[in-house]
Amino acid sequence: MEYALSVSNVKKIYGTGVEALKGVSLEIRSGDFFALLGPNGAGKSTLIGIVSGLVNKSEGNVKIFGIDIDKNFPLARTQIGLVPQEFNFSIFETPLQILRWQAGYYGISGKSSSKRSEELLEKLDLWDKRNEQSRTLSGGMKRRLLIARSLIHQPKLLILDEPTAGVDIEIRRSMWEFLKDINSSGTTIILTTHYLEEAENLCKNIAIISKGIVVENTSIKELLSRTQRETLILDVLAYKSLPPSSSDGFQFKSLDSNTIEVVFDNRNDLGKLFAELGRYNITVKSLRNKTNRLEELFVDLVAKGNGR
Ligand code: ADP
Ligand code: MG
Repeated sequence: MEYALSVSNVKKIYGTGVEALKGVSLEIRSGDFFALLGPNGAGKSTLIGIVSGLVNKSEGNVKIFGIDIDKNFPLARTQIGLVPQEFNFSIFETPLQILRWQAGYYGISGKSSSKRSEELLEKLDLWDKRNEQSRTLSGGMKRRLLIARSLIHQPKLLILDEPTAGVDIEIRRSMWEFLKDINSSGTTIILTTHYLEEAENLCKNIAIISKGIVVENTSIKELLSRTQRETLILDVLAYKSLPPSSSDGFQFKSLDSNTIEVVFDNRNDLGKLFAELGRYNITVKSLRNKTNRLEELFVDLVAKGNGR
């Protein structure tokens, strides 16, 4: 089995004494679309920084396609494309200049540099802006410029640190399509995100990190099948009394005279829920899911991580 990334017992203590990673181990298969999820301060950017050589680890091993970054960083580096969380290009340079410079950094020159730059700017919808100073680009365009730049040397592993933070939904969707495309043509992708929906839509496997510890590492499919607790918000006509909590596997809570929250095991039959409400003469006008299932699980897992 070839791993695109293999991280073993990686620790990071910053000069300030902050222990950002407390022994992280992860294996990500070649071809995977992998989500790294976690709240702010969990250590996601630190881990990505270590993998891409921007941050020195305190302990542990990192291999990229089998290449140990401590033994051959120059070779390991060429395998990775990085889209950092913060914009880190010169805002006075144009997209074309930024891509050409990056190409040069990876030893790509002349015709192939121009060809590659043009291709990427077109693909990422930046061609019209190629000669404008980057400071004039919108947030979404700047993010796409980072993506174009990260792909200039055709890396086998693309790492994106919160690529869609602050990007509006339309651009986020087109970015998703773009990422799905390059993943299906063979590029391994790792992304960190706050949008759980994003992990659910894009990724095959997932790790959840909290306070420098991996609290979960599994497939999205398996994770979802494990999440059985569901919460519905019911808009109802005014009612007199509520069924007792935990009747028939449903837990009811009154939010106000027209709103009821019900928590239940989603393998439970919804017909039973309506029958129970019927017995108490409660008429449901509409219902909605309170949270997405993964989001609930995520909250549970982070709580679990905090408990350690
Ligand atoms: P995330 O990307 O998951 O939000 P980070 O890796 O940025 O998390 O941060 C993890 C922890 O390390 C936080 O407590 C953060 O304050 C700390 N940290 C991050 N970068 C530095 C740094 N350069 N110096 C000191 N502490 C840092
Ligand atoms: Mg971060």
